[in-house]
Amino acid sequence: MAELDQQALHREMTAWRRDLHAHPEFGFEEKRTAAFVAEKLRAFGLEVAEGVGGTGVVGTLKRGSGNRAIALRADMDALRIAEQGTQAWRSQTPGTMHACGHDGHTAMLLGAAKLLACEGGFDGTVRFIFQPAEEWGRGALATLQDGLIERFPFEEIFGLHNMPGLPIGHFETRSGPVMSAEDNFEIVLKGVGGHAARPHSGRETLVAACALVVNLQTIVSRRLSPADIGVVSVTEFITDGTRNALPGLARILGDCRSFRPEVSAAIETEMRRIAEGTAQAYNVAAEVTYTREFVPLINDAALVDEALAAARTVLAGDAVGIAAEPMTASEDFARFLIEVPGCFVFLGNGNSAPLHPPTYDFNDEGLLHGARFHAAVARRRLAVG
Ligand SMILES: [Zn+2]
Ligand SMILES: [Zn+2]
Repeated sequence: MAELDQQALHREMTAWRRDLHAHPEFGFEEKRTAAFVAEKLRAFGLEVAEGVGGTGVVGTLKRGSGNRAIALRADMDALRIAEQGTQAWRSQTPGTMHACGHDGHTAMLLGAAKLLACEGGFDGTVRFIFQPAEEWGRGALATLQDGLIERFPFEEIFGLHNMPGLPIGHFETRSGPVMSAEDNFEIVLKGVGGHAARPHSGRETLVAACALVVNLQTIVSRRLSPADIGVVSVTEFITDGTRNALPGLARILGDCRSFRPEVSAAIETEMRRIAEGTAQAYNVAAEVTYTREFVPLINDAALVDEALAAARTVLAGDAVGIAAEPMTASEDFARFLIEVPGCFVFLGNGNSAPLHPPTYDFNDEGLLHGARFHAAVARRRLAVG
């Protein structure tokens, strides 16, 4: 098969990436992006299914007679953030931008599809999954509930995320826990509001809520084992009081991170106990709502070795390494790993802004590395002969 001109592919991926960057779409609204992806995949000769899990796209490429199948995954959604960049390809949609580099991930997986469609070098089936709504933590589940694995079977899955601060061409991953679970909570304290000058005549909630915020700090420091990683962050504090009226209602909202379901369960149990006890001490009532948004991302040890070996075939050996620590950020790719084994990796984005600020931009220098890594992992896992 024809060998693809890599520099021409890099230029082409750069144009795709900048087009996607200029036209960001929020989770489950990726209509233009999905159409863009589907059109390219068809042009490369892939079988294409659209509307998977809402706005997801799945491309299928088969070569040889092998009956094994693997999946490569990218995410397509942007964030509701107003871009502050000045580059020519800055967002054309006010209040929405690609602040997490999913434009780059989509362009890299499209590049890999073109590379593998033109050059082959594998025996079996490669599924290219472009999932919606990663940032919400809802898109992967939507594709799975839409029969992703039954309709497009695969035995293992690989994905990547760009990593600001890691040099271009550098690659990291680790086995076991890589990214954390995310749980959200809301605690509502209900009492009786009253005049600011007559606190004894009501059952105000503000002092109780302050005590509760402090007491919640003991979940990680006094209740979890020091060997377990956990984060409990109170992020919002809202009351219905005004300057001369004591609040009868206080709401505390926040976010918890952990790497094991047992730790997530322990955080919830302790939170409910502390909320109840604190409310009782201040003669108010507490209502706790605790939801699980993201599951922890757990890499398969054997497939981590495979991903590292594949990366060494396309990147400098000393640029491929094991990440030192798991991250307390969350990633929707984790949902796929509950169904099949797989590996999630990080690829250097150089000295860009961190992920999510309005000044972030994906670094196009990394595009070819990502495309070549995807292709290398497919060729290694679906080796010819
Ligand atoms: Zn993000
Ligand atoms: Zn992201």
